Amino acid sequence: MGRPRKYRWVEAEPGVTFFKPQGIPLRVLEHTVITVDELEALRLADYLELTQEEVARKMQVSRPTVTRMLARARKVVADALVHGKAIRIEGGDYHLGSQKIRCAACGQWQPALEGKATPKVCDSCQDPWHDPDKM
Ligand SMILES: [Zn+2]
Repeated sequence: MGRPRKYRWVEAEPGVTFFKPQGIPLRVLEHTVITVDELEALRLADYLELTQEEVARKMQVSRPTVTRMLARARKVVADALVHGKAIRIEGGDYHLGSQKIRCAACGQWQPALEGKATPKVCDSCQDPWHDPDKM
């Protein structure tokens, strides 16, 4: 039996994925990158002012992971603001909350499969899949 897979839950994809400072010629413009899961940690902690414990619970990651994601996200944003760099929001290891389904046997959330109604077995308890609660 494999180790249960871990997913970083993100409520929604960001609507805007590129920020560019005005008046910087493209040839000298530098880019920084923040991942979608790092932005979600930043949104939950710094915008919605959740505690790191609450962010960890929402995203279903450990608290040290939240601390690491926040440290990186804040540094990227600060770097962009201080040095006039563009910010691109892309990539990261995450699943969207809107595609979340819950195992009726163990209660763990996992991603809904693309285009399919239900998985065959639960990622967490490896039980045959029961009626999921769609979110
Ligand atoms: Zn399960």
